[in-house]
Amino acid sequence: MSDCIFCKIVAGSIPSQRLYEDDDVIAFHDIHPIAPVHFMLVPKLHVASLADCSSAQEGLLGRILLLAPKLAAENGLGKGFRTMINTGREGGQEVFHLHVHVFGGGATLPKT
Ligand code: AMP
Ligand code: ZN
Repeated sequence: MSDCIFCKIVAGSIPSQRLYEDDDVIAFHDIHPIAPVHFMLVPKLHVASLADCSSAQEGLLGRILLLAPKLAAENGLGKGFRTMINTGREGGQEVFHLHVHVFGGGATLPKT
C-alpha cells in the first residue's frame, strides 16, 4: 500500500512520535490531538478498516485492545481513557488503515 500514510509511518518513511512497537503493532501520538494525551494503535499489516477484518485478524485485534489499557496507563491515562475506531466514510474515517484511537487526560470526557 505505497500511498497509505500509516504504512509509511510503519516503514519509517514518514516520521511519527512512537510510543510502542512490536512485531505486529505500533503506537504513535496523533498529529492533531483531541485530548491532552491522544495516540493510536496501528497494526503493521495494512487492513483498510475494521469492516475489512476477518477471522484472520482475530488475534491481532485482541492484542491491540489488550495493549490499549497498558499503553494508556504508561502514558498518564491510568484513571481512564476513551477508545475510538472510526470505520468507513460515514463513520468519520479519514485514514484507511485500521487504527484504534486512545485519548484522555485532564477533565472527564463528556458522554457521547
Ligand atoms: P480517522 O481516520 O478519522 O480515525 O483519524 C485519522 C487520524 O490520523 C486523525 O486523528 C489524524 O490527526 C491522524 N493523523 C493523520 N496523519 C497523521 C500523521 N502523519 N501522524 C500522526 N497522526 C496522523
Ligand atoms: Zn496502510
